[in-house]
Order: sequence, then structure tokens, then C-alpha cells
Amino acid sequence: PWYSETWTWFDGGWHQGNPPLMGPRTHAAWQGTSVFDGARVFEGVMPDIENHAARVNRSARTLGLKPTMEPEAIVELTREGARKFGPGAELYVKPMYWAEADGPAVIAPDPESTRFCLCLFVAPVPKPGGLTLTKSSFRRPTVETMPTDAKAGCLYPNNARALLEARRKGFDNCLVLDMLGNVAETATTNVFMARDGEVLTPAPNGTFLNGITRQRVIRLLREAGVTVHETTLRYEDFLNADEVFLTGNYSKVMPVLRIDERELQPGPFYRQARELYWAFAHSGERVGG
Ligand code: PMP
Repeated sequence: PWYSETWTWFDGGWHQGNPPLMGPRTHAAWQGTSVFDGARVFEGVMPDIENHAARVNRSARTLGLKPTMEPEAIVELTREGARKFGPGAELYVKPMYWAEADGPAVIAPDPESTRFCLCLFVAPVPKPGGLTLTKSSFRRPTVETMPTDAKAGCLYPNNARALLEARRKGFDNCLVLDMLGNVAETATTNVFMARDGEVLTPAPNGTFLNGITRQRVIRLLREAGVTVHETTLRYEDFLNADEVFLTGNYSKVMPVLRIDERELQPGPFYRQARELYWAFAHSGERVGG
């Protein structure tokens, strides 16, 4: 697998490997009541960890779950877990809340049955070689049809289907449109393009995750004097872009090298965004304190 060595905190202690966690009446497994987040520890820092901890609690509330950990406590546990791997470890940090009781009934579970775990895996940050994208035949649901304002596990089978379709066609990832036919995001990241000296990215409209890395990159670029438009963008806009890049907590900022028949190069806005993000990440507190 792409990850190795796992430590998970649940029920008051740290557990190594992959111990059993759920019972046969877990509502999350039957009915999809789980939420999660993802963050990174790399090069001795944990950029935006407070925002990821806050978001997993917001996602929990959206699904009627009761957050059982304060965001500050999640950050502290992340620190504690990271120390188990030793200095310099590159980690993927995944907190999850789920409904343990009341499955397999459909109705909302008792919020008191909410459980929490924090899973840390070793996983190197990908080197920015660049990715290829195709147009997906899958669409993002609206907030009326799915809890798109939460990072909910039940949204992801569709992302997996989009990703598998792209892989079968020989691409790394895909542009996923919303129900109106505008570009929303890729199956796993947010998406940016540059045209005529300005940066453009889809405006949040309730169909895609307004990523923490996305918001950070927009802010850093604007502070550096770059014009960033959050607007409606079609697939054709991306085909005609000067450059395209992606943001997400896992790979941070990555260039796009191809969209279907259109070849692209990593450009100056991608480089600036990546450099600004790295400088921001290293201005944060060190994992060891
Ligand atoms: N969109 C989707 C569907 C994602 O899974 C992710 C990764 N969490 C993102 C966008 C990027 O969000 P973030 O920068 O908060 O990781």
C-alpha cells in the first residue's frame, strides 16, 4: 500500500497496527454515518492542523454526531502520535467520528453513540511531478441531495468511481462537474487555473469541498498581490488555460500536465503557490514544540 506503519488513538489509548474497532451493529457501517478529515505532518510541521481539527467537528455536527474531542485536544493528540514515529516522519493524519449504535436502522442514531479515532500513517508527501486529468462522467451532488458541506464518508464511493474511471482511461485523476455542468473539483482535490496573468478557481456553491489548502493558497496568493477570481468555470475554460494546478492536504500544490488532449506545463503561478505554501508551512510551530 501507499502507507505503512499505523498508530491509532481510540477509547483513551494508542493502538499499533489495525486492531478491530467496530461491532456488527455499527450505524456508520450500515448507513454511512461517518465523517473524517486529513492533514499532514511533514518536514517537522503540521500546517493548518487547527483548521482540520475544527472541520472534522463541524462535519460531525452536520451528520447529527456529537464531537467528543475539542479541536485543541485533537491537535495535542496528533502531536503525541507523531512523536511515536520519531523526528522527520512524514505522516498522514486522519481523525474520524462515527455512529456506533443503532445500526442497521435507517433513522438517525443517538448522538451519544458517537465514537472518535485518530489514525496516523507513515506516507511520504508526493514529489510534484505533475498529474494528468480527464473529464469525468460522474457529477457532484448538491447540498439538497447529499451532505456536501461535510467531509462525510458517504460521499466518497462516488469519488472512488470517478477515480477508477479515470485510471481505466489512463489518467491520474479527473475534473468532476457539478449538476449544472460547471467544474467543481477533481475526485480528491480542488482545482485552479491561470489565464492572462490571473488565477481562477471554481466559486464554492455547495457542491464541492471548499478545501483548507484551497483557502490557504488563495489567501497567500492574494497577500502576494496576485488576482484570484472565485467564479464559474467550464471544462473548456480549463482546456484553454495557460496553466492548471491542484490543491489538497495530501499533495499540497501539484501541477497538471495534461487534460485529455491538451498538454500543459507547470507554470509560474503553480511555482509561486507552491513556494508560498511551503514558506507558510515552515513558519508554523514545530511538531516537537
Ligand atoms: N476535494 C475533495 C473531494 C477532497 O477529498 C479533498 C481532500 N480533503 C479536497 C477537495 C481538498 O481539501 P483540503 O485542502 O481541505 O484537503
